[in-house]
Amino acid sequence: MNEDDKTCPSARAAPGAILLGIKGADGRIKHMRTPMVVDDNFVEAASAHGTPEARMRFASPCQTKGCAQWTGTRCGVIDNVLKHLTVARTPQRDTLPACAIRASCRWFDQTGETACFACELVVTDQSAIAAE
Ligand code: SF4
Repeated sequence: MNEDDKTCPSARAAPGAILLGIKGADGRIKHMRTPMVVDDNFVEAASAHGTPEARMRFASPCQTKGCAQWTGTRCGVIDNVLKHLTVARTPQRDTLPACAIRASCRWFDQTGETACFACELVVTDQSAIAAE
């Protein structure tokens, strides 16, 4: 893998994307342990129950300058999430959450473990900003 071939962990639901996690009853994302690539049927079925990105997180190749969230050098989404998240609200854990894309994750590459601890609070359909 090219060093620049990073994966966006807050992508749109589209055929070929990876289902990264599903929002639990507590509002937090539960990460999948193994990657599952979604197809047209999945996206269609998920869309029949509302915006998939409000209930699930998807991953796909980072588009860098092809994405409005790209600052020119990095992804602005996780920077904004961490800026708005107080230390007191960041989930405290002894271990990182299981994650199927960590090896190529853009946010992990930029911010390391801090991104992973905040990741479960991010819902893509809320303009990619963590819950209030
Ligand atoms: S920030 Fe961490 S937990 Fe979230 S998708 Fe990236 S590697 Fe996985």
